[in-house]
Amino acid sequence: GITEPDAGSDVASLRTHAKEVDGGWIISGEKCYITNGVRADFVVMAVKTTAEGGHGGISFFIVDTDQPGYSASKLEKMGWHASDTALIALDEVFVPTENLLGGINEGFKLIMANFQWERLMMALGSVAAMQLVFDKTLLYAAERQAFGRPIGNFQAIRHKFAEMATTIEAGRALTYHALRLFYDGHDATREVTMAKLKTQRDCFEVADECLQIHGGAGYMVEYGIERAVRDARLGPIGGGTDEVMAEILGRSMGL
Ligand SMILES: Cc1cc2nc3c(=O)[nH]c(=O)nc-3n(C[C@H](O)[C@H](O)[C@H](O)COP(=O)(O)OP(=O)(O)OC[C@H]3O[C@@H](n4cnc5c(N)ncnc54)[C@H](O)[C@@H]3O)c2cc1C
Repeated sequence: GITEPDAGSDVASLRTHAKEVDGGWIISGEKCYITNGVRADFVVMAVKTTAEGGHGGISFFIVDTDQPGYSASKLEKMGWHASDTALIALDEVFVPTENLLGGINEGFKLIMANFQWERLMMALGSVAAMQLVFDKTLLYAAERQAFGRPIGNFQAIRHKFAEMATTIEAGRALTYHALRLFYDGHDATREVTMAKLKTQRDCFEVADECLQIHGGAGYMVEYGIERAVRDARLGPIGGGTDEVMAEILGRSMGL
């Protein structure tokens, strides 16, 4: 749990804070858009442990959700209905000393390290999601008839498949390259960031193209395509937005 009502992309401006007391810490503040925050038994949370300090003043705590002062409510959202997304209020929640995760004021480093795997996982998920929706749609295009022939035989539709297959293959190659570097212990920040940036918007666009190929059926819940579009829309936002990915890459070029 990192995001707050006034701190999303700008992680260093988070305000939820912890005050040291006998045997632990008292945490107060608010978190939002926290995945599974309602059903979780505990939440790993980024919290300010110094009044100032920006990036340097953040620490991680394991917060038990049954503690007095913890409350979470479920937010209504566009997709990803398999998980809840929570608004969490922390009103003087006690956390014992042993629930500090990592060093004091060293949370920002943990956030950055964790982002690499999270972004890689999102890229891998999107490559698989694109392939799945593509395969389903290819079958549909071979079966669905219009004007006396399968719709896949129209050049306009055939070319959509050619473009999508190229997009998926490029995303897969970049993502697997990033994964190999990461797995071998190299600094893969550049490649992971590129893989996240490349695959998330592509996944949404491929899913949307597949919906179009399904025609009216694509808009119906039973085919699962409209769900793929809604779920894919999170990719360019969650785990760091596309704009933030572009910033990381652009700045690494000395600009
Ligand atoms: C379904 C869902 C689940 C989530 N789960 C979690 C979770 O489990 N834990 C968690 O901590 N967070 C979670 N998030 C939050 C998510 O990480 C943030 O929404 C995301 O990082 C963007 O932050 P924000 O919403 O505050 O947008 P903002 O930071 O307010 O950004 C708004 C817009 O401004 C752009 N922008 C911001 N800064 C710049 C810049 N420097 N240059 C150019 N453009 C910029 C952004 O790209 C975006 O388009 C979840 C979000 C969703 C929707």
